[in-house]
Amino acid sequence: MKKTRFPGAAWRAPGNIVRRSLRSLLELVYPEHCALCGAGRDERPWCEAGARIAGLTWYDEPHLCAECATDLEPAVVQGALPQSGVPVFAGRPTGPELVTVLSQWKYHGVRGLAWPLVPLIKAAVSAAVTQCGPVNLLVPVALYGRRQRQRGFNQAAVLAQLGSAEAGGRVRVDLLRRTRSTGQQAKLNTEEARLANVAGAFAARSGPEPGRGRRVGVVDDLVTGGTTCEAAVSALRARGWDVCWVVAAGLAGGQTLDIPESGAKSDRQVDTAPVEF
Ligand SMILES: [Zn+2]
Repeated sequence: MKKTRFPGAAWRAPGNIVRRSLRSLLELVYPEHCALCGAGRDERPWCEAGARIAGLTWYDEPHLCAECATDLEPAVVQGALPQSGVPVFAGRPTGPELVTVLSQWKYHGVRGLAWPLVPLIKAAVSAAVTQCGPVNLLVPVALYGRRQRQRGFNQAAVLAQLGSAEAGGRVRVDLLRRTRSTGQQAKLNTEEARLANVAGAFAARSGPEPGRGRRVGVVDDLVTGGTTCEAAVSALRARGWDVCWVVAAGLAGGQTLDIPESGAKSDRQVDTAPVEF
C-alpha cells in the first residue's frame, strides 16, 4: 500500500538509528500492546502501517498485531438510513473487534489505530462510488464543539480524509455543524427516542445552485440505528445539498455486498463545476 507522508513532517523523520533509539525509549515509557489481544510488539508480527495520516507522527504505530488485523479486513456491507432511505456503505459489519478498535482510538487516544481503518473506509467509499456515483464533496458528521476539543479530533473527519482519494472529492468540515450536545445515541432504547434526541441537532451551510457541484457523501465512523446520520442528512438537504450516500467504517445490520475484483472505481465523472456558497 502506498505510504504518503503528511506535509511538514520532515523534522519528525530522523534517520533510522535515531528513530529506533527514540522508539525504544518511548516503549520504555509507553509499552505498546495490541488493542485486541494484548500481545506486546515483541511477541507477534505487528500490523503494517498502511498510510501516513495528517496529525500522526512516525511513532504512532497501529497498535495492532498482524493476526488481529485480519479481524478488520474489509467485507463491505450495504444498508439504508431508516427514514430517508439514503444508501449506507461500510467497510465491514460492526463487530466487537471493530468497536474495540474504534473505542481505543476515540476515547483512549490510541491514535495509531486510525491506520487499520484505512482499508475499511476506502472499501466503503469505493463501493458507494461504484453503486451510486461520485460526489463533489465529502462531509464528516460533526461533533459538538466541546466534545471535539476534549477529544482533540473528529474521527469522522479523519476517516473522510482517509477516504477522499477514493471518492475523487474534497473534504469539507465546515458544511455541517452540531448545534448542541446530544450524548450517546446508543444509550437510548427506542428509535423514536434516538430520532428525537438528534432532531435539529445539526445546521448546514447553504448549498450551491443546481448543477453547481452539490452532490455530497456523508462520513461517520459507525452507523448503528442511523438516526444521527439521518439528522445530518436532513440538515444538509434542507440547505440544498444533494446527499447521495453515507459511508462508515462499520454498519450494524447491513447486507453483504459482493464487489467484483475488477470493480474498482466508477467510470462516471465527478461534476467539476466550482462549488459556490
Ligand atoms: Zn493481537
